[in-house]
Amino acid sequence: MSFSDIPVEIGPVFEGERIRAKQMYVELGGPKVEKHFELVRVASSKDIKDGQVILHGPDIKDMEEGSRHPIGIFVEVAGPELEEDLEAVFERRVHEFCNFINGVMHLNQRYTNWMRVSKAAVGKGFNSLEMLGTVLIRLFKAELPIIEQAQVTIYTDPKAIEKPYDMAMGIYEKRDERARTIHDDDVDMFYGCVLCQSFAPTHACCITPDRTSLCGSINWFDARAAAKVDPKGPLFEVPPGECLNLEAGEFTGINEMIKKRSLGEIERIYLYSGMEFPHTSCGCFEAIDFYIPEVNGHGIVDRNYGDVAINGLPFSAMANQTGGGKQMPGFNGISIQYIGSPKYQRYDGGINTIVWMNSGVKDRVAEFLPPDLVPKIATEKEVQDINALKDWLKEVDHPMVATWAALEAEEEEEEDEGAMIPMGTQSFTVPGVGGAGGFKIILKNCKIHAETIIIKKIEPPRKKK
Ligand code: SF4
Repeated sequence: MSFSDIPVEIGPVFEGERIRAKQMYVELGGPKVEKHFELVRVASSKDIKDGQVILHGPDIKDMEEGSRHPIGIFVEVAGPELEEDLEAVFERRVHEFCNFINGVMHLNQRYTNWMRVSKAAVGKGFNSLEMLGTVLIRLFKAELPIIEQAQVTIYTDPKAIEKPYDMAMGIYEKRDERARTIHDDDVDMFYGCVLCQSFAPTHACCITPDRTSLCGSINWFDARAAAKVDPKGPLFEVPPGECLNLEAGEFTGINEMIKKRSLGEIERIYLYSGMEFPHTSCGCFEAIDFYIPEVNGHGIVDRNYGDVAINGLPFSAMANQTGGGKQMPGFNGISIQYIGSPKYQRYDGGINTIVWMNSGVKDRVAEFLPPDLVPKIATEKEVQDINALKDWLKEVDHPMVATWAALEAEEEEEEDEGAMIPMGTQSFTVPGVGGAGGFKIILKNCKIHAETIIIKKIEPPRKKK
């Protein structure tokens, strides 16, 4: 495979490249653009033309520097061994392959895809989306040899993208609907995915029927199909092994997998908890599930929400805290699909713990939640701060209100006795100057109450001259 006709370098070495606003020539998709998507479909070889790239809308060279545009990437692939179950897994490779291009940054997936092309790349001549399509076609065929033919259609025109965008949303929904028909107890095999390790080296997804991958794009059926056709690839089988804790979803097989794949950094995962040994998060999660201690409940915010969440933090700030392959109790990257699962954070109290969601998420999942709970979950439309949330929850008699008295009594007792109670393990790294060096603090089984913590550098005593 040659890329000699492409004016920038191509290769896995460029994965993880960041393009800041100042360095970008154009932005395609992302949170500030209304419609964008990427979709892969299996087609009949007679319906596509191998190697063809079709562009609907302005090309990079026609775009003003610093501008934003819709982006729809529709890849059609053909080959005698291809099956529909593989589409979602192929689709996830769009992220990886775009990031192989020096000067292109690709984030997220499905309808949250977000790309930037750098000024440096455009300066070298990478000024056409036809080049992007050509790179994708060559990489798809080289990396996934069961793909024999491929065609790419790219949409950047706001009108032209409408129809294919609606089609893509319908296909995502069909995939999600199918995934909702089975549960973890119905299967004897789980799956893992390490596609995001170039960004988050200690992260591996555990994909089960109830826990669709946190990027939302690979469900259990998709993972099964991918592991079958390429068992040595980034998606692989994870035999669940012995169940150590049914309520929390702790399995020996998953613990062994995460220990191996995180190179010993992570040892245990509770599939159904955001508070103890939570699933690691890379950076591609569709939403963040976060604990709100003031009301002993969970909030959920998705990446399309542009305002601050009920805890006063925007998605981007929480994402920094949550992602990177860390295990961060109280902040958990999740797929939207997981919210409707009967296993949703079951160990922490389950679905009844949800007290707040941004309205975009609530609209999407309301039909899968208990009907009596839906009107009791607040959004940004009803409340804007924690105090208002407390009043609202009391007013609607949210199930979590019943836990407050016990919690307050427990806290008073702790304050009186200075007691410490088990709260899982917190581990965080304090970076040194310029992000280098630093040290790591691990707090095991502790809860700390403090008004202020002061960390001071102790200077070594100076020698008297
Ligand atoms: S978020 Fe998980 S499932 Fe999705 S691509 Fe990354 S590692 Fe794979």
